[in-house]
Amino acid sequence: MLTLDFHPTGRHFLQIPGPSPVPDRILRAMSLPTIDHRGPEFGAMGLRVLQGIAQIFQTRHPVIIYPASGTGAWEAALCNVLSPGDQVLMYETGHFASLWNKMATRLGLKTEFLGLPGVEGWRRGVQAGMIEERLKADTQHAIKAVCVVHNETSTGVTSNIAAVRSAIDAAKHPALLMVDSISGLASAQYKHDEWGVDVTISGSQKGLMLPPGISFNALSPKAIECSKSAKLPKAFWAWDEIIEMNRSGYWPYTPSTNLLYGLAEACDMLLAPEHGGLPAVFARHERWGEGVRAAVRALGLEIQCADPAVYSPVLTGVMMPEGVDADAVRRVVYERFDCSLGTGLGKLKGRMFRIGHLGDCNDLTLMAALAGCEMGLKLSGVKLAGSGVQAAMDFFASHPARMPVQKAA
Ligand SMILES: *Cc1c(COP(=O)(O)O)cnc(C)c1O
Repeated sequence: MLTLDFHPTGRHFLQIPGPSPVPDRILRAMSLPTIDHRGPEFGAMGLRVLQGIAQIFQTRHPVIIYPASGTGAWEAALCNVLSPGDQVLMYETGHFASLWNKMATRLGLKTEFLGLPGVEGWRRGVQAGMIEERLKADTQHAIKAVCVVHNETSTGVTSNIAAVRSAIDAAKHPALLMVDSISGLASAQYKHDEWGVDVTISGSQKGLMLPPGISFNALSPKAIECSKSAKLPKAFWAWDEIIEMNRSGYWPYTPSTNLLYGLAEACDMLLAPEHGGLPAVFARHERWGEGVRAAVRALGLEIQCADPAVYSPVLTGVMMPEGVDADAVRRVVYERFDCSLGTGLGKLKGRMFRIGHLGDCNDLTLMAALAGCEMGLKLSGVKLAGSGVQAAMDFFASHPARMPVQKAA
């Protein structure tokens, strides 16, 4: 039996912003026997998950489910709608936006990477005005797609996607809007149809509370139309055969059966009317974010996101004072208190750590994670202004969750 227990009892605190802790209900659902993916039971389950995931994207259009990590779904999105040499406008919000940009270049697209200079751009959301200005200058409509990251997981900044849509419309530009909400979906508000997004990319291991392994493309009719003439090579990722087979709840190849059991369970949990459905999910994450930020401020540390209008409800980036190696602090928290924190990525390596507040967590598990951070910081010799745990206790005690917690009958 594989054992991962560094500490022999209790559960490891997986406090990174994805993979997120998986609820026991989902683990149990995934432990059911694998069935025939061409049999009648499978088709019924397939239709159920396709309907559930569409509700979570808030779309009436097809959602493609791939047996791949989020990176696969990034590639799928680009290669289904674009042709070699096409110009795409991307926006640098952080490390994940940079990786997507690199991928687009490797696929043979001409990318232009907008953004504010230096680390400053990584501390604020997408500046929709810059996109509007750039599109207005593109009078020949050479730009075929605008690509942005909704919740930038490397920093803890959640961009305003409706504002990006408005910018494209204000420029009267026909470019497709493609959005990575790999870590935003099912934690932060996301409206694929209402925001006029053409392709939304997401993954299983963040807000959906599943293990890694499946990922998504939510489509618009315009994106489907574009995919018919787009020339980048695509076979495994091609939407057409998948959409066709999905009509009856099946896939052209063997899907990730047990992850789909988990997805069915996740949809039930996230959409459950008795728990308030999606509005309660978003309110829960907003509240956790506020509690964690109260703790970070009380410690006297800086929140990485510099614009309160775009604080992420999914994770919080915590900047270290000059001279403190964030990864050394993370190591202490891991070794002494069995808690994993997110590392600083790209330009922010060693400068910050990230606390995830998503997946299977609640006020008390979050406060325990904050206690781990606080002890680890003290042990690392970081001077703290006060107690973050105390501030979180004060916040959570004085701000009851809006939806009453309902016990199962
Ligand atoms: C996690 C993540 C990715 C990468 O997804 P993988 O599943 O690791 O391939 C891309 N973008 C964002 C915003 C993410 O959070």
